Amino acid sequence: MMETKCVPADAQAIEQAAALLRSGQVVAFPTETVYGLGANALDDQAVRAIFAAKERPADNPLIVHIAKREQLRGLCHVTDTAVKLMDAYWPGPLTMLLMKTDLVPAVTTAGLPSVAVRCPNHPVALALLSACALPIAAPSANRSGRPSPTAAAHVLEDMRGRIPLILDGGACRVGVESTVVDLTGDVPCVLRPGAVTPADIARIVGQCTVAPSVMRPLMEGESAPSPGMRHRHYAPRAKMTVYVGSDEHVARAISRRYDQTDGAVILAHTGALPLFGNRRAYSLGASPREGAHLLFQRLREMDETGCTLILAQGWEAQGDALAVMNRMARAAAFDIVYV
Ligand code: AMP
Ligand code: MG
Repeated sequence: MMETKCVPADAQAIEQAAALLRSGQVVAFPTETVYGLGANALDDQAVRAIFAAKERPADNPLIVHIAKREQLRGLCHVTDTAVKLMDAYWPGPLTMLLMKTDLVPAVTTAGLPSVAVRCPNHPVALALLSACALPIAAPSANRSGRPSPTAAAHVLEDMRGRIPLILDGGACRVGVESTVVDLTGDVPCVLRPGAVTPADIARIVGQCTVAPSVMRPLMEGESAPSPGMRHRHYAPRAKMTVYVGSDEHVARAISRRYDQTDGAVILAHTGALPLFGNRRAYSLGASPREGAHLLFQRLREMDETGCTLILAQGWEAQGDALAVMNRMARAAAFDIVYV
């Protein structure tokens, strides 16, 4: 088995990681969204090694990370709309789908004609991308189907023995993956919500739609606009139900179900915690933004308790809360109760 080093992301470790990337290997690094599992996006074999380490289905494309816009030259067709959004939100948690060139291997985009590109807003990610001077394909650094890692320890849990190096840059600020916006059509369309909201995009470029599959399961036979949405995602081992409504209504519904079930745990807004008495309850923060920051970490913590059922308090799926609710809905296999 390969030894996996997990080291603080100092200058020396970043140099070592860059050398590994240049030699076609896979390394994990922090970004402001979640930890990424990176390899040279233009090297077929290196990208295959990412899919192998994650056990990721080959039809799920990767995001290509860059430090500077100039690195996009030759990789994809950059539109005027894309430039406006880069001016507004890069570096940051916004991934854009643009038409790719032949330089990007099919394995990176899972055979699609578009490529997903992003410039992350994290000093370690940017230093690493600059040091290796390569476009780096990097999906989230979890094993396929597990919650995305928001700390180096989560990456180690999932990737021990599978990759040579994890750069530890502390906890990820945002906590959910980047917004994915498709810029290959007439109107920008959000395929995956993140910290940059559809309203943030519309403010810059006039309009922005949201793919219907963001908040509901795909219908029988419906094709996924974003292949990641086809796959079971963000899943804790326990079953999960999400409740949305006033604190009092949610607390009553969750408490009743908790008392009827063995092995249930509660995940609720900070302000609602006192309503659950001495039942076993975890905090999901006081706002959708805090919820996004904490969700994946809490799913891992609750799984470790061996619980069989997670009863979670959500938010109305709009505005700031769309990103966290998209993940909660998927973790709960769309079992959402409005009370
Ligand atoms: P991850 O980094 O693990 O969150 O995965 C990246 C996600 O970006 C994928 O699951 C897709 O949903 C999306 N994505 C990446 N490239 C494309 C593309 N060319 N077309 C549509 N969606 C994409
Ligand atoms: Mg992922």
